[in-house]
Amino acid sequence: MSRTESTPAEAALLTVRGLRKAFGQHEVLKSIDLDVSRGEVLTLIGPSGSGKTTVLRCLNGLEVPDAGMVDVVGQLAVDFSAPVSKKQLAALRDRSAMVFQHYNLFPHKTVLENVIEGPVQVQKRPKAEAIKEARELLARVGLAEKDNSYPFELSGGQQQRVGIVRALALRPQLLLFDEPTSALDPELVGDVLTVIKELADEGWTMVVVTHELAFARQVADEVIFMDGGVVVERGHPDIVLRDPREERTRQFVDRLL
Ligand code: ADP
Repeated sequence: MSRTESTPAEAALLTVRGLRKAFGQHEVLKSIDLDVSRGEVLTLIGPSGSGKTTVLRCLNGLEVPDAGMVDVVGQLAVDFSAPVSKKQLAALRDRSAMVFQHYNLFPHKTVLENVIEGPVQVQKRPKAEAIKEARELLARVGLAEKDNSYPFELSGGQQQRVGIVRALALRPQLLLFDEPTSALDPELVGDVLTVIKELADEGWTMVVVTHELAFARQVADEVIFMDGGVVVERGHPDIVLRDPREERTRQFVDRLL
């Protein structure tokens, strides 16, 4: 499941500068900068409505930013201050894969069909190869027997593990997790967090939006606290989550811990 390409560990994988996004009059992101090195885990925390999901969606091309620059892998900087072509957006989208809060599986497709949809339909990879890889990934997260099941036959935790496999099957450079456990019953959260932690340990580069601060402390190389569309504080998890400099961060983490 590990990444196929090998580049220097400290190489910048994600660079974001001056990212802005408004919905109508509502400025949701007010100039966000991010830097994530290859193999690093960044977690985004902050109150509901602070713009965390919108950041992920902009990185993945699901939202088109109003301004700013997004660069994944240092080869393709997309400058949203100028008009952006569909081809540029597609190329950006191809570099990352998103795991959604509500799994977003196709309900009428089996687990296997869900996983191979992107590789076969979008990436045009050979179906036999996609199936083989999908089965390996499913086995890896303990779902070897579930390839012919439908999402409604699975628990939330199993569905989310399928969501993670579906993202991995796209062979992205960057994994984006949008509150991956917040829709789960508490007893199912641990299994999903374990899978994400294993991926982090294997060296996947990821940006994780989460309210699970204990988890963030375990896996994150850097934590960013956002509020009102700006980065209020960023740094090592031991600082931001235990001894933050900013009062707003302290109030937020004190409420959650
Ligand atoms: P968070 O993930 O921190 O909860 P979001 O990025 O989901 O925050 O949302 C930030 C703000 O942007 C919220 O006020 C939300 O209502 C608004 N917003 C998000 N998406 C849209 C949209 N498609 N249209 C209008 N407003 C949106």
